[in-house]
Amino acid sequence: MEQPKQEDEYGYDLFPERNSAKYKGRSLTESLFTFNHKCQVMLQFATDTSPYAKLLLGAMKSSGCKVLKDRHFSCEDCDGSVSGGFDAASSQIVLCQNNIHQQSHMNRVVTHELIHAFDHCRAHVDWFDNLRHLACSEIRAANLSGDCSFSNEVSRFNFGFKQHHQACVRGRALRSILAVRKISRQEAEKIVDEVFDTCFNDHAPFGRIPHGKKDAGFANRDYENRNRYYANL
Ligand SMILES: [Zn+2]
Repeated sequence: MEQPKQEDEYGYDLFPERNSAKYKGRSLTESLFTFNHKCQVMLQFATDTSPYAKLLLGAMKSSGCKVLKDRHFSCEDCDGSVSGGFDAASSQIVLCQNNIHQQSHMNRVVTHELIHAFDHCRAHVDWFDNLRHLACSEIRAANLSGDCSFSNEVSRFNFGFKQHHQACVRGRALRSILAVRKISRQEAEKIVDEVFDTCFNDHAPFGRIPHGKKDAGFANRDYENRNRYYANL
């Protein structure tokens, strides 16, 4: 799979060719006992404490797609600068243990990939043959995961105008698509623009764009309380 050469490349990709050449480079000891262990610990922390992850896991559970840590997450070494991916064929989220070194990064990757998993669960997404489906999920993942949140953008010196969030989401969705599909930038732009408004405004299961952790916490609380009114009738 080709890697785009951009700055701040997080490379959230889908993994259509995951079973091809892989697992190389690092010594077994280093991979298994250092990076793998650290990855597992950070993953556990993300699913226990990130309001984004908790909301997504809860939403998937109530949609009949319970996520099991051992079955649906896999810490692996990945090529290039890829951080993670969603393997639709096996319904597994891949976390790139050699490229994720900070908890905040882990939280964002887990959230981003869980949004793909959520879409995979609730809709019959045709990841491989329908580029509009792929584009839609990438737009949603960039929009809702915090990839384009205020602090991330400030730290990239991209902070500027009001429409910046949308521009960031569009740019990230484009890069994600181009990383996994051999199409031209023009083709990718056309597809992203066709579905952008619909998918950008689809905030499920958050009910809003969570701008930051606190906001995601409120969204999670609302989500957890969504049935309370009816339960008391
Ligand atoms: Zn993605």
